[in-house]
Amino acid sequence: MNYESPSRAWVDVDLEAIAHNLDIARQALPGTALMPVIKAGAYGHGLEPVARRLDNDGIAFFGVANAGEARRLTRAGVRTTPFILGPSFPEEREEIVANDWCCTLSTVEEAAHFQSLAAAAEKEFVCHFAVDTGMGREGFLPEQLGEAAAAVAAMPNLRVEGVMSHFPAADEDVPFTQQEIGLFTDCVNTLSSHFDLRYRHIAASAGELGYEIPVANLARPGLLLYGIAPMASIYDGVLKPTLRLSSRISLIRELPAGHGVAYGRTYITDRPTKVATIGIGYADGWNRRLSGQGARLYINGCYCPMLGRVTMDQIMADVTDVPEVQPGDIAELIGEHIPATEVAEKAGTIVWEILTGLGPRLPRLYH
Ligand SMILES: *Cc1c(COP(=O)(O)O)cnc(C)c1O
Repeated sequence: MNYESPSRAWVDVDLEAIAHNLDIARQALPGTALMPVIKAGAYGHGLEPVARRLDNDGIAFFGVANAGEARRLTRAGVRTTPFILGPSFPEEREEIVANDWCCTLSTVEEAAHFQSLAAAAEKEFVCHFAVDTGMGREGFLPEQLGEAAAAVAAMPNLRVEGVMSHFPAADEDVPFTQQEIGLFTDCVNTLSSHFDLRYRHIAASAGELGYEIPVANLARPGLLLYGIAPMASIYDGVLKPTLRLSSRISLIRELPAGHGVAYGRTYITDRPTKVATIGIGYADGWNRRLSGQGARLYINGCYCPMLGRVTMDQIMADVTDVPEVQPGDIAELIGEHIPATEVAEKAGTIVWEILTGLGPRLPRLYH
C-alpha cells in the first residue's frame, strides 16, 4: 500500500482519540447501541487499524459501504459483524450469506434472492429492512412496507432483526427531519407486527447531535468518531482530533517580484519571495479546488499562504516570514492548527470529502 517514502507526505492517526470519541458518543447516548461507521477506509484513517482498535469495544456492528469492505474486516480477523450500508450486487450475496455479514433489504426481489441463498446454505440469514423516509437512495417506501413485510415474513430462512433509514437533511432542515422522525416511528410500528425488531436506527452524527429519537436504539456515528461535530453541539470541545496530514519542504528558492507560481500563473509574486516547494499534491487528496482560495499551511510555528494552483505532486507556499526555514521542515496541512473543516470550506466542499479523499499514496502512521 505504501508506495511512497514516508518522509514526503503522510497521515498520523491517533487511534486512542478515535476510541475516546466513541466513548463520548456512548456517554451521550445511554442505552443506545452503536455502529461505528468505518466505511471508506475509516474516513481516510485506515479501515483495518481502526476496526482492530474498536473491535470488541461493546459495539453492535461496524458500518461499511459494501461487501469489499466487509471482506477486508473479516480477513483482518475483526469479530464485530460488518453492516453493509449500501445495496449489494446479486453476485455478492452468496458471500454475504456465507459470512453472516448484515445488510439491508430494499426490495422483495432482493429478499427472495437472499432467502434462496440462505435456504441453499441451510442457515438463517439476519438482515434489516431499509425504509426510505426521505433520502431517495435505498429502502422500501413507507406505503410499500405492510405488503413487503408480509412477503418477507413468509420467507423461512430470513430473520429481519432491524429497521434502518437515513436522514437526508439533519444538519440543514430541522422541521423536515422532525417530521421524518414521526414517519420513521410509523414505519417501525408497521414492521413490528411482522418482526421482532431488535435494532431501530436512523441517525448518523448530525442526527445524534440534534434530535430526540425515542423510537431509535442504535446510532451510526461516522464523522463524530473522527473528532468533528457536523453541527454545534454539546460535543464541541470534548471530541479529540484524530488525524494530522503533514508534508515536507523539498526545496526553498528565492523568487523575484513579478514571477509566476504554478500552472496558469494565477499567482504572481508581489515582492521578492521565499518560496517553498512541498511534496504533496492533488494526487494525494490535497484538493485542487483549494487553488487560489486562501489555503494556508503551518510551518515552524507560522501560518504560510499556499501560492497558486495545487499541482499533482507538489504545492508551493510563501515562507518569507518563517524564521530559519529549511528543506526537510514539516508543513502541517490538516491538524491541530488547521482543522479539516477549514480546508473543506476553502475547497468549497464538505469535510467528509476532504477526509475520504486522502489518497493511498499517503502512508498512515499509527500512534
Ligand atoms: C456514512 C453514513 C453514516 C455516517 O455518517 P456521518 O455523518 O459521518 O456520521 C451513517 N449512516 C449511513 C447510512 C451512512 O451512509
